Amino acid sequence: LAVHLVSFFFSKLQEDPTKKVDRFLHAMRLQDDQLTDISKRFMAEMKKGLSIESTAAAAVKMLPTQVRSTPDGSEKGQFLALDLGGSKFKVLRVKVREDVGIRKGGVELEEKTYPIPKELQVGRADELFDHVSESLKDFLHEKNISPKKKHPLAFTFSFPCEHPSLDQGLLLNWCKNYRVRGLQGKDVVKALKQAVNRTGDMDIEVLAIVDDTVATMMTCGFDDQCCEVGLIIGTGTNACYMDELRHIDLVEGDEGRMCVNTEWGGFGDDGALDDFITEFDREVDAASLNPGKQIFEKMVSGMYLGELVRLVLLKMAKLGLLFDGHVSDALRTKGKITTADVAAMEEYRSGLKNTKDILTHLHLSPSPEDCIAVQQVSTIVSFRSSNLVAAGLTAILTRIRQNRNLRGLRITVGVDGTVYKTHPQYSKRLHKVVRRLLPDCQVRFVLSESGSSKGAALVAAVAQRLTSQRRK
Ligand code: BGC
Ligand code: MG
Repeated sequence: LAVHLVSFFFSKLQEDPTKKVDRFLHAMRLQDDQLTDISKRFMAEMKKGLSIESTAAAAVKMLPTQVRSTPDGSEKGQFLALDLGGSKFKVLRVKVREDVGIRKGGVELEEKTYPIPKELQVGRADELFDHVSESLKDFLHEKNISPKKKHPLAFTFSFPCEHPSLDQGLLLNWCKNYRVRGLQGKDVVKALKQAVNRTGDMDIEVLAIVDDTVATMMTCGFDDQCCEVGLIIGTGTNACYMDELRHIDLVEGDEGRMCVNTEWGGFGDDGALDDFITEFDREVDAASLNPGKQIFEKMVSGMYLGELVRLVLLKMAKLGLLFDGHVSDALRTKGKITTADVAAMEEYRSGLKNTKDILTHLHLSPSPEDCIAVQQVSTIVSFRSSNLVAAGLTAILTRIRQNRNLRGLRITVGVDGTVYKTHPQYSKRLHKVVRRLLPDCQVRFVLSESGSSKGAALVAAVAQRLTSQRRK
């Protein structure tokens, strides 16, 4: 037996396939000092985006949202809601504690997902919004909601907008899988209202338009008053947080706070991350709908993780480091490895088997060592994503702590997004790294279930509460 063990041990030593991957992807394995460096760079970007002199040229836009308060839990009301811009388009009816006696935190929703055809994501704005408003009409019909009555509506729109008021959103640019003509610089709410009029037979009052990060923070904030950060790691990535009005040059007034949508996906668009960018990141960027834009997002979010893994495998195979140097057509094809594949390959028990199945499906014949190596590629790519998010969050939390002159900080981060929810190890890794980088902070992460969908309604409910308090 001893001899057997020793020879087993030696064969392991000689050919641990993860080692060659570690060497090959050295540039993607970020150490804590590098993360701290990235975090400091992001803090500088936040300052730049907030200050009046530098905001125009800032890569991280730091958009004031007009949301001045998180929920206090006493909000109520019933709203229609739209959620557009994530992995799914949804129409919803959201009840914020409508019925007396409902348990605390009662936000109920009924929802229906409407697919958005690919052509509409890269077509004309009026066609996209006609589809949105026809879906809304279908929803009213299906749920027996009277089209005669006026309905308050809240809109989660997950693209960067400027907000002259809570019910206006001027689109700065599209990203992710959307590139629609005829809306840039225009008010998204106006486009929606015009489409609703074209569709006819509906009376809709749009109360608020918010980003999905803001919606997520608000949903989580209804149950937990410490929630002052919203985070999305899904198709795209972004974060928002409550800053002090005195730091927000673009909004008048110095008292109180306002939620700032960082639009951190744009971090690096001005070259700030160039020394961390690999050849694979450059390839992903060049083949995207928006080259040169959303550099941080392309290193982090679900739309790109699978593609990064595919490009690494392709290169390694070409160099003879995988599959005996064999490359299949499928492996050469964009989009053939998805983020869902990455998640499956990192599954605790079935990960290796899943890896083998996924590779076989790509017409490759992986050896057991190949499977171990490919799993390691996935791990390094997805770990880098959570590391980068941790660096960004560390910057935001440090800023909040400094704003309030605190040594420690107790804070909750509301999170939503497919990557965070479905990747088997992502959330744990993220939590661990944030806690390591910020030993003085007590950070609680709360998965904000359907946060991005419910939250616009909560923004509307908070706005209504504040108005009625002012009237009293
Ligand atoms: C958008 C953000 C959004 C994020 C997550 C990004 O591409 O620019 O506004 O919050 O995706 O959906
Ligand atoms: Mg100000």
